[in-house]
Amino acid sequence: MLEIKNITKLYGQQKALDDVSFSVKPGEVVGLLGPNGAGKSTLMKIITCFIPPTNGDAIVCGQSILDDPKEVCRHIGYLPEQNPLYTEMFIPEFLKFSADVYKLKNSRQRVDEMIELVGLTPELGKKIGALSKGYRQRVGLAQALIHDPEVLILDEPTTGLDPNQLEEIRKVVRDAGKSKIVLLSTHIMQEVEAMCSRAIIINHGQIVADGSIADLKKNNSDTLEHIFHKLTKD
Ligand code: ADP
Repeated sequence: MLEIKNITKLYGQQKALDDVSFSVKPGEVVGLLGPNGAGKSTLMKIITCFIPPTNGDAIVCGQSILDDPKEVCRHIGYLPEQNPLYTEMFIPEFLKFSADVYKLKNSRQRVDEMIELVGLTPELGKKIGALSKGYRQRVGLAQALIHDPEVLILDEPTTGLDPNQLEEIRKVVRDAGKSKIVLLSTHIMQEVEAMCSRAIIINHGQIVADGSIADLKKNNSDTLEHIFHKLTKD
């Protein structure tokens, strides 16, 4: 279970998040939507313990981000927006390094499984710096999944992918979401419909809609694009 409890974040005078609360169960793939500057990345950075909230707490698999960030990190896989991959490393080398950070006993086996899962085999001979955007995203996803976390946080995982790459990455995310909690941000409404069971729309740091895709569309008898536009235009 992932529980976001009354999170507020101030950057100086700027309120990036304003009393945000929601919870997510395993088996849910939640799309976090909102215009640029809405607070999506800030929320993800707080859940993954990169930055602290000003107020509030998040409970990840029973652990508070305030009390035990190290333990929280064991339960979370994170693909940041600016995927910080080591460009001089080869793919297996980088994934082995990632596995060793978590002190995995079966690290070699996990590296092979991840390479297979996200479809990296054709590019194994290349350094990460030589990979296309789509393959870099796959390496990022493999790194996020290597320790088999219960919670997956993906900041714009499909940005910059071509249609074939999109379909493959969507499948990895949907499959992960069968047993895990997945929270992903995107600007692209088709991505939400293709991958998510639920959408949370935030605007100016506040939640303005939260529901299953079907319910959001039914209640508003509208497309997701129009609902987004109505709720987030200034
Ligand atoms: P999103 O991911 O939805 O585009 P962000 O979480 O990146 O939104 O940003 C939310 C707000 O917080 C924006 O107004 C942004 O300018 C501001 N912000 C983000 N990071 C910082 C920071 N390190 N210092 C000051 N303001 C920031």
